[in-house]
Amino acid sequence: MPEIDVFTPLNLKHTQLKNRFVMGSMHTGLEEAKQGFDKLAYFYEQRAKGGVSLIVTGGIAPNFQGRLTPFATQLSFPWQIKKHRKLTQAVHKHNSKICLQILHAGRYAYHPFSVAPSKSKAPITPFKARAITQLEIKKTIFDYANTANMAKKAGYDGVEIMGSEGYFINQFLAPKTNQRTDKYGGNFKNRMRLAIEIVQAIRKKVGDNFIIIFRLSMLEFVEDTQTYNEVIQLAKALEKNGVDLINSGIGWHESRVPSIATMVPRAAFTWITQKVKQEITLPVIASNRINNLQDAQTILKSSQADMISMARPFLADPDFVNKAMNNDYMSINTCIACNQACLDHTFKLKTASCLVNPKACHETEFQLNFAKKKKKVFVIGAGPAGLSAAVELAQRGHQVTLYEARSEIGGQFNIAKEIPGKEEFKETIRYFNHQLRQNNIVLKLNYKIQIEELKKEAPDEVIFATGVEARIPDIQGIHTSTKVLNYTEVLLEKKHVGKKVAIIGAGGIGFDTAEFLAHNPNKTSPALDKDEFYKEWGVDPKYQHRGALKPKEPEASYREIYLLQRKTTKHGKGLGKTTGWIHRLSLKNKGIHFLGGVSYHKIDDKGLHIKREQKTEVLDVDHIVICAGQTSNNSFYQQVKNQTSLNCHLIGGADVAQEIDAKRAINQGVRLANSL
Ligand code: NAP
Ligand code: SF4
Repeated sequence: MPEIDVFTPLNLKHTQLKNRFVMGSMHTGLEEAKQGFDKLAYFYEQRAKGGVSLIVTGGIAPNFQGRLTPFATQLSFPWQIKKHRKLTQAVHKHNSKICLQILHAGRYAYHPFSVAPSKSKAPITPFKARAITQLEIKKTIFDYANTANMAKKAGYDGVEIMGSEGYFINQFLAPKTNQRTDKYGGNFKNRMRLAIEIVQAIRKKVGDNFIIIFRLSMLEFVEDTQTYNEVIQLAKALEKNGVDLINSGIGWHESRVPSIATMVPRAAFTWITQKVKQEITLPVIASNRINNLQDAQTILKSSQADMISMARPFLADPDFVNKAMNNDYMSINTCIACNQACLDHTFKLKTASCLVNPKACHETEFQLNFAKKKKKVFVIGAGPAGLSAAVELAQRGHQVTLYEARSEIGGQFNIAKEIPGKEEFKETIRYFNHQLRQNNIVLKLNYKIQIEELKKEAPDEVIFATGVEARIPDIQGIHTSTKVLNYTEVLLEKKHVGKKVAIIGAGGIGFDTAEFLAHNPNKTSPALDKDEFYKEWGVDPKYQHRGALKPKEPEASYREIYLLQRKTTKHGKGLGKTTGWIHRLSLKNKGIHFLGGVSYHKIDDKGLHIKREQKTEVLDVDHIVICAGQTSNNSFYQQVKNQTSLNCHLIGGADVAQEIDAKRAINQGVRLANSL
């Protein structure tokens, strides 16, 4: 028998999937936007064209109660079918398939009409759900089948029933959220009754010629949820009742174990998919933190799963599958699992996009054609802003030279990649290095271009992406004390740091620096060592308790660290919506001291003199690391603009230092390049 790999077609009962890649469900925000379905059709079409065999849409509610938000999309009525047809037709043009995900939010709903198995309030919404009645359960099962039928009429190849991540069906499965005493509560047979009745009703309504995927909650990471045996019991029952594919659900939204963020090791949870696969004959889909071809192949070849689901990696690169098929994986734009432009946007009800690919979900806003006139363009600075501008310019046909004063490209990404848990940032530098070569961009490293050369060369356009400099606050002794270092000296230049440290500034960089200094340099980062990660976050790979949880065993900090801010608000309040809690908890578990409401008096041989809560104190530390934000490095831009008539443009941190985040920098670089 030939070896099965990610490119081998998969036969289902009535149909065939052309390869083993699934684009997993992801809400984009276009579902509710003006003309959103036209944009969504284009977005999905790009991914279908890029070779993925099966796309699962973002979650669509089967009824009003089940909507995540009051204005979330629902598919229940014939007049709603037309817009969905745009999606199915776009995907079918490229011989790919598309399934509609049916998602009932249950107690996760963000509106006052929510229902759940029992009266309860989830920690992630302000609304308390009331207990659903038996009559309403009957009606809800009908609504699921009705939505599946509408999906079939709209041309979908099937549906995915969302049975995980702590949503409605999952809430019935877990004792934590189901205290019913009727036939839908109590023992597991009763708790899984809703899931089975939904599957039966859908199958009865749509017939055999329609894919049913069930997203099975395999690991929940919340106390008092399912046992391993219950997960298997449900998987077997689903198989008997007409499901075609089992997808993996990992972690509830309220769980305090990271399951998709960048500090989660790659393919960290395929061990459970493999265990489930061994118990049933249905094909099983692996998901969560799979972002590269090599892992996907290993998972398939070692029978840990039959298909690979990736959601965010298809935002980062719509052509992932075709590039993989052509052995062109160096040109894959890898998802770095930062969540900054996708999930963080979704949770703020903004249209999703991607930090490394700002065109994602905004495809219709970009020109696809070559520039009308080929221009000579100089880009100064090879950080995220300069790199993205240079590549986009070259792809549009311009002749591009990229200047970088340092010996390597990457700018602030070279700092990020040094942080334990942020190793993925290396991938973006690898991607850009390859793109520079592919697009014949002339790269001049260790090169500080001077104004005379610019005048002589007279490029048509000059783009300044000259980045930022660390801000040094005005504190007595800061310029003279040998105890003071700034974050680049610590993270990039790797200057020696003693065992007792104070960090001034608790923004993104302050947190990153604390994580770096807390880590024992002789140990592997938990993001690269699954066992260390499981220990740190209390994951039980033996699955001996409900929710696969066991007590956490975080490694104590390698140094004694004080993370200081002047604000009195919670530390890390400004960090990403979906990742801030992880950074906070990670440092807290390691014993980092969070000091807020601090004013800085002076630095001398004794250490850092501060005042807080009306008291003065001295932090007797070996080093004080400054992470107090940045200032724009734009003096060269000002000089050239004032002294020449060249067309000058300023982007990235050199433009706005306050928000020197890569998301903004890359977006600005690509958009400027697209306009020239
Ligand atoms: P930042 O977020 O602006 O934080 C700098 C901190 O320094 C402020 O929170 C401020 O806190 C303090 N500060 C500012 N001026 C000061 C002064 N004169 N004296 C003393 N303290 C001062 O800057 P950052 O940490 O360098 O991060 C920059 C950007 O990088 C962020 O906007 C973020 O987008 C990105 N980033 C994000 C992450 C992440 O989300 N994990 C990680 C790395 C970088 P007080 O005023 O309260 O003291
Ligand atoms: Fe991946 Fe970050 Fe892009 Fe989201 S924003 S798809 S996590 S790279």
